[in-house]
Amino acid sequence: MTTTQTAPKETGTGNMAPQTFNNLINGQWKPAKSGKTFQNLNPADPSDCIGTFPASDAQDVQEAVEAAKKAYDAWRLTPAPRRGEIIFKAGQILMERKEQYAREMTREMGKVLAETRGDIQEAIDMCFYTAGEGRRLFGHTTPSELQNKFCMSLRMPIGVCGLITPWNFPMAIPSWKLIPALIAGNTVVLKPASDTPLSSLRLVEVLQEAGVPEGVINLVYGSGSTVGNPLIDHPDVRLISFTGSCEVGRSVNERCAPNFKRVSLELGGKNAAIILEDANLDLAVEGIVWGAFGTAGQRCTATSRVIVQKGIHAELRDRLVKRINGLKLGYGLEKGIDVGPVVNESAMNKILEYIEIGKKEGQLLTGGERDTAAGAGWFIKPTLIDNINTKHRIAQEEIFGPVTALMPVADLDEAIHVANDIEFGLSTAIYTKDVNKAFRALRDLEAGITYVNAPTIGAEVHLPFGGVKNTGNGHREAAETALDIFTEWKACYVDYSDRLQRAQIDHN
Ligand code: NAP
Ligand code: MG
Repeated sequence: MTTTQTAPKETGTGNMAPQTFNNLINGQWKPAKSGKTFQNLNPADPSDCIGTFPASDAQDVQEAVEAAKKAYDAWRLTPAPRRGEIIFKAGQILMERKEQYAREMTREMGKVLAETRGDIQEAIDMCFYTAGEGRRLFGHTTPSELQNKFCMSLRMPIGVCGLITPWNFPMAIPSWKLIPALIAGNTVVLKPASDTPLSSLRLVEVLQEAGVPEGVINLVYGSGSTVGNPLIDHPDVRLISFTGSCEVGRSVNERCAPNFKRVSLELGGKNAAIILEDANLDLAVEGIVWGAFGTAGQRCTATSRVIVQKGIHAELRDRLVKRINGLKLGYGLEKGIDVGPVVNESAMNKILEYIEIGKKEGQLLTGGERDTAAGAGWFIKPTLIDNINTKHRIAQEEIFGPVTALMPVADLDEAIHVANDIEFGLSTAIYTKDVNKAFRALRDLEAGITYVNAPTIGAEVHLPFGGVKNTGNGHREAAETALDIFTEWKACYVDYSDRLQRAQIDHN
């Protein structure tokens, strides 16, 4: 039988008392075999500990992979519509618990309540969208070149999947991997980011409660080196789906190569919004501020470059500074807060180093420092830097914090050139009222996603999500394209002629 974690307890401060959480292996919640743990801290107030989680290692991974392997046959043979019903039910339970889980998520990673509600909603959307896939999982039928022969192609599950996820969408990203993996009949071992262990546990608990059998989902906590690497290296893990930085993604890719392990990689971004002279400037300002400073800039799709046509540079600059100065920093559970802290101290220090580089490369317009008045946590003032060009580091390297840069250009041609002059290719946006220019941008911007008159963030679960160039290795999450990650094609031929028929040979 499965066991659930105990319910959180209220403390006098309105926060929950720290709890001890465990791995989920073969339907049992259990500590790491080594007995080691790590803490999950609140980035808005690092003295607030949410709980301790197991610091697992290769022994725990071994047990989890064995459980997933054992559960695979029964799960792959469970009719896909039945798997879909379980996933649908999980979506319903998530809807009921949305507020609780959103509050917990703000506490464990910092983004404001409206955004953590959105994160849970994305998992709900993924459940409802994917549940229907249980009655589709379409293959193809096609004519044979021979008489009395039937041809079709089917999607088959892959086996045990290792899922490694980042902290910036603590429930949404695990759901993007888990839910499509499950609908296709795979079993999984999930290793979530150590900065946000609780939200992935909630998702797994809900899926269990909805009826996912034991061993089908296993959850193992711990660092990239002690849990991530043994998971990647394990011969019984047939697929690794990784979302995170380019640096780690490259090493994941290399580790998968010797065994030809299937690997999907969703990596970094350095996303540009192009603002042309005919744009609705009010709309552009709102889109830039939301795109650059939502989640304190810690989104793979964050607007970290604002490419502006020269004629409106000064006006956009002044309007942005005014709007940014009105943003309120603080603990995301409090009312009226626009921007929360960044995820941890080392992230804060890295972002502050980039700000120092930016101050030398261009002109600091606002922000540019830590905000201790906002709280004891890792707060950085929303920062805008002016007069940056493609040679600057600020224009090339992913900062992953509340920092964006203005890059003036002469016209659309130059704007597209500047936007594309980068190693990444995740998201892009263009603000213009000229339909011809909008369509040129849709065609010419090198990115997996392009928005017209909308910010660089705002993906919906039924469209393909992912990037070109160094943002990934060509896969697309979400939509039906996620099935291309989590299934293999099988070609099936049924000859009902009752005689030997030879393809290509019996051709006249
Ligand atoms: P990260 O440092 O690369 O970590 C991602 C995950 O990999 C975490 O679970 C981490 O574990 C684990 N990990 C770290 N080192 C590892 C190793 N050597 N082997 C195996 N696993 C390892 O990224 P992050 O800081 O969590 O997330 C931010 C990055 O993710 C940014 O670059 C952002 O652009 C990218 N991102 C991309 C997308 C997309 O869809 N394209 C979406 C969101 C985020 P620990 O938690 O223990 O470190
Ligand atoms: Mg935390």
